[in-house]
Amino acid sequence: MTRVGKLAELLITDLGISCPSDLDVEAIAYDSGVSVIYEALTGCEATLVGYGDRAIATINPSGNRGRERFSIAHEVGHWNLHRGRSFQCRVDDQSANIYSDRVFESEADNFAAHLLMPGILFNPMIKQLGKPNFKQLKEVATQFDTSLTATALRLANINTLPIIVACYDSNGYRWSIKANDVPKRWFLKKKLDEDTFTFDLLNKGKECLHLGKQSADAWFEGDDAANYEVHEQCISLYADQVLVLLYLDAEMF
Ligand SMILES: [Zn+2]
Repeated sequence: MTRVGKLAELLITDLGISCPSDLDVEAIAYDSGVSVIYEALTGCEATLVGYGDRAIATINPSGNRGRERFSIAHEVGHWNLHRGRSFQCRVDDQSANIYSDRVFESEADNFAAHLLMPGILFNPMIKQLGKPNFKQLKEVATQFDTSLTATALRLANINTLPIIVACYDSNGYRWSIKANDVPKRWFLKKKLDEDTFTFDLLNKGKECLHLGKQSADAWFEGDDAANYEVHEQCISLYADQVLVLLYLDAEMF
């Protein structure tokens, strides 16, 4: 686990939290010295201003509780990791921070993911599910009161499954994260292959209700990809963005 992840999870164990419904993010924030207020903001989703040993996190009410909770946890991350600075954050799209060189923003996202889905509670739930599909992941997201994207990113992050989580739109590849153990040689295609279920969802509106078998060469560059299979499922996010789960064959490792 990263240093940042450990710090966040330490807060959870120190508070004696033992089930997802106890993850009251505002109470955790308050305990860390951060008071949360809700106020319409322009140009950002959340701000943090510190005064001495207390801070105020202002959260833009979004109507999406998972998103608001992530914003609060993100600001608690800044307060614990980057004290002495003020922040204006666009935490509504954490995927935008995946490749960001804004180190503080990625660290605060990482902190938030561990705070809201601590390994001690998240990992056993995932283990019970085997290779979770989107229906199961939505149930996990409901339990932790997190967004589906944040939950899928955390699933890759715990590195217990051979998974890649990716996002595509009608122009092709947007972003992806791999579980750490996925070999670096598996490069996702930038242009969506017509054989993928994701192509069918984006171009024909055909929903993808289950994890389905797919030849790996529909997804990956490389001559030997045709020798392997992956399991694919996709779901519409917003606008024309589609979130994809890809489970790799054990032989691809
Ligand atoms: Zn931030």
